[in-house]
Amino acid sequence: MSALFIDGGWRQAVGGAVREIHCPADGSLVATVPEAGPEDAELAIEAARRAFDTGRWPTTSSLERSALLHRLADLLERDKEEVARLESLDTGKRIVESRYDVDDIVGVFRHFAGLAGAESGRVVDTGRPGVVSRVVHEPVGVCSLITPWNYPLLQTAWKVAPAIAAGNTFVLKPSELTPSTAVWLMRALAEAGLPPGVANLVLGAGAEVGPTLTTHPSVDLVSFTGGLVTGRGVMAAAAPTVKKVALELGGKNPNIVFADADRETALDFALTAVFLHSGQVCSAGARLLVESSIHDEFVDELVRRAELIRIGGPFDDKAETGPLISAGHRDKVEAYVAAGIAEGAELRTGGARPDDPALADGFYYLPTIFTGCTAEMSVVRDESFGPVLTVEPFDGEDDAVAKANDSIYGLAGAVWTSQAGRAERVAARLRMGTVWINDYHPYVPQAEWGGYKQSGFGRELGLDGLAEYRETKHIWHNIDPTPQRWFDGAEGV
Ligand code: NAD
Repeated sequence: MSALFIDGGWRQAVGGAVREIHCPADGSLVATVPEAGPEDAELAIEAARRAFDTGRWPTTSSLERSALLHRLADLLERDKEEVARLESLDTGKRIVESRYDVDDIVGVFRHFAGLAGAESGRVVDTGRPGVVSRVVHEPVGVCSLITPWNYPLLQTAWKVAPAIAAGNTFVLKPSELTPSTAVWLMRALAEAGLPPGVANLVLGAGAEVGPTLTTHPSVDLVSFTGGLVTGRGVMAAAAPTVKKVALELGGKNPNIVFADADRETALDFALTAVFLHSGQVCSAGARLLVESSIHDEFVDELVRRAELIRIGGPFDDKAETGPLISAGHRDKVEAYVAAGIAEGAELRTGGARPDDPALADGFYYLPTIFTGCTAEMSVVRDESFGPVLTVEPFDGEDDAVAKANDSIYGLAGAVWTSQAGRAERVAARLRMGTVWINDYHPYVPQAEWGGYKQSGFGRELGLDGLAEYRETKHIWHNIDPTPQRWFDGAEGV
């Protein structure tokens, strides 16, 4: 059985509770893990606090931190197949996608290894000969890192790598549904030489351990990726102790197709945008906006292709998409589709579980497409986080931009057109953290990732990727102090 990792040692939960992890593709038992409670979270926070206040990690050189992250990347390359397998068993995602994820994560570790090893701080020209004034960066302190289940180790890497690069200590809480690769990560960090107490792992339900992680006075920073409602609660919980908070939340991302777009490519990517990983992607293009003049023929072809998508388990070579994460999540997607039908959206395909008996033990759901959608409908406004696409027509650039921006979210979006000028105009007006032009989904660790509006705040990755994880201090050093004698009278001179 796996274990919690606290202060450099493996242990069971104080209360002795355990949780079974089942593969969403077929319900098979993957692992039994300890289920932490508030006391475990407290022990982990205390260990991280001690490691920060009295340990050597926060003052290690940037080169040492950089070298450690490179060693971690090496270990991940060594264990690639094992990690991909664990990720697929926990999430049900296709093994090929898990292998891509591992490659991405290696890139993330190496990116932050590079940032860690680069310059830190600067000297300020004060114009005074007797003063040395400099700006330095220091770690924030103890970080609570809370991650979701859709890209478990990738989302974790986006937080753990900068936390380590900046010299912080942390408590990681992955989703209770997908703990396995976080356990691998703790083993690898220890093997790479991270001192005890710097990295701590608590496994358990968010409602149980989350409040301790987000309110404990010894925690300085909370970095959270997950749903909007949970994120609002995290922000409120962290407010009384004024913790630094970074939130990466949901999205309802518009994918805008103009009539002059390359039709074949736009169709192909419209499917990938929303149905990749069964729509369980924060940046999924779940809201398709199609220029009126091509709307009907575009949608007909999209529906035809969606019905050809092959569904199956993680190790089925022919499968193109997999199950939803849990029975509870499928229930939510089903309720969301039912609401769409009740609101008058036209169900063009899907809206049901597959009838293949071979898939009966998994949490599968058919690729689903609604047309006749309007901006007031909950299927258009709310994130389903499932394989559900809504389609709306638009007329011209202004209408496309207005519709795309009419959302509380602002995570990502795309525009498809063969006119470069139009592409740039529309991209500039979209209120989203990422905009793709004639593409969907790619990201690179060198570019910032983050949301506008209620998709969150704070930036992950990119050249600013360390900003959330370090404090900036100005040190003014008067190297030749002499009396100023402003108050000569008071000095009695
Ligand atoms: P979730 O909000 O249910 O859970 C996320 C994490 O928060 C889990 O570890 C969970 O255990 C924990 N949690 C739950 N209650 C908590 C509490 N009271 N206090 C502290 N932590 C608590 O989200 P999910 O279902 O795991 O993930 C799906 C969501 O994540 C979607 O909305 C998706 O858009 C979003 N997401 C966003 C990004 C991004 O980069 N913006 C990336 C991936 C996923």
